[in-house]
Amino acid sequence: MKRSTIKKIFSTTPNGQTVLIKGWVRTFRNNQFISLNDGSCMGNLQVVVDFENTDDDILKRITTGAALAIEGTLIPSIGKGQTVEIKALQIAILGDCDPEKYPLQPKKHSLEFLREIAHLRFRTNTFNAVFKVRHALAYAVHRFFNDKGFVYLHTPIITGSDCEGAGEMFRVSTLDLHHPPKTADGKIDFSEDFFGKETNLTVSGQLEGELAAMALGEIYTFGPTFRAENSNTSRHLAEFWMIEPEVAFADLEDNMDLAEELLKYVINHALIHCSEELEFLKTRLLDEEKQKPQNERSELDLVAKLNFCLNNEFERLTYTEAIDILKHSKPNQKKQFKYLIDEWGADLQSEHERYLVEKHFKKPVILTDYPKNIKAFYMRQNEDGKTVRAMDILFPGIGEIVGGSQREERLTLLEQRMKEMNLPMEEMNWYIDTRRFGSAPHAGFGLGFERLVLFVTGMTNIRDVIPFPRTPKNAEF
Ligand code: ATP
Ligand code: MN
Repeated sequence: MKRSTIKKIFSTTPNGQTVLIKGWVRTFRNNQFISLNDGSCMGNLQVVVDFENTDDDILKRITTGAALAIEGTLIPSIGKGQTVEIKALQIAILGDCDPEKYPLQPKKHSLEFLREIAHLRFRTNTFNAVFKVRHALAYAVHRFFNDKGFVYLHTPIITGSDCEGAGEMFRVSTLDLHHPPKTADGKIDFSEDFFGKETNLTVSGQLEGELAAMALGEIYTFGPTFRAENSNTSRHLAEFWMIEPEVAFADLEDNMDLAEELLKYVINHALIHCSEELEFLKTRLLDEEKQKPQNERSELDLVAKLNFCLNNEFERLTYTEAIDILKHSKPNQKKQFKYLIDEWGADLQSEHERYLVEKHFKKPVILTDYPKNIKAFYMRQNEDGKTVRAMDILFPGIGEIVGGSQREERLTLLEQRMKEMNLPMEEMNWYIDTRRFGSAPHAGFGLGFERLVLFVTGMTNIRDVIPFPRTPKNAEF
């Protein structure tokens, strides 16, 4: 007999037919009721055991976490909260689970505890929901771009360029750490390294993405990126996934439109295809927020927040306008910000971003035209000589979710900026070539995938939306 998933069973009309299901025991009550989960959906299926006619040895082995195969008849259930149940005819133990040693108990565990047993946390409802939503969002990203005719481009994970300018990098090397070859002047001789030069894990696929966009027109990347930044926050990972579209002949306006459309599309996809998971996560968040004082709780529940995001235009304003708002804001005047805003040119900290989004506009915000000094070399310079055509999208509870720009397509201006910033022009020849041979305006952005998953699931720590988080001092599993 072929196995049915529990999801399928839930949509089958029960009429006493025999079915085969397999799954893991969540609970076993009164030697009679097994609550079985096979991962196919959030709900558990109730299996009723005829304990008087079941081997004692089998009954003893039905414990939380054990894997079972059950053949039984599918009948309507009179129990509360379920429409069908299975009357077991035959139970086979596929894998035992010693209840004395199994860390997951049929009770609520803290997210911190579950993080320590990340190899088992998939078996909880919360992580079942989180990773289903993560999957749905990834699928929606590909669907969105595919339907628009974008090409999914695989940019390298190991890169030889060290001026992507997005943070500290992880070195890739096969040299002997204890006895590295040295050059005449005593420096490490990377010409003897695997690639014959210094190499690192990529911090962004953008530069390579631009090369392809200048021929294929519209591309996007969706892959892992690595940053050795020592920021132990609830928003940063050392290994995270990023989506980076790059579009030829697009300006900043087009770029903002594309980002807003993408975000709304994928959120809408999750609302439609993960309603069960999002309902569960909504309740989870409400429970979690009960511990907080009233003024720190969200005004909208998770699903309402996602719908709100869909139904409102993102607020668009310049960095200069934002600084003005921040300067005159209450927390700045009462010196409640950790970093006070006193002059134009300051980099915005997440407290400022969150003030703008959560307190001032109360909706997603797109900030544009940042000072060139706090942004990367490739951003297009404005006429004022001070700002560049950058855009950051700020989300409630998250802060920056997207960073992007219109790129500097004018060769002389790009070269001038690279010189000012002391970048190794020689090594970057391949990049500058795009501006030498048929340069054209183009624009793109990076969307941090885990920050998106964080927003949609209502989880609060980025470590809880990626299966095996890599953070400073932690690369378990
Ligand atoms: P932040 O200021 O929050 O560190 P950033 O300015 O360094 O972000 P970008 O270099 O613009 O970010 O990267 C593009 C996007 O990638 C960001 O908008 C964010 O969504 C995501 N991102 C950046 N760094 C991380 C990280 N360490 N972990 C997870 N996501 C990240
Ligand atoms: Mn950063």
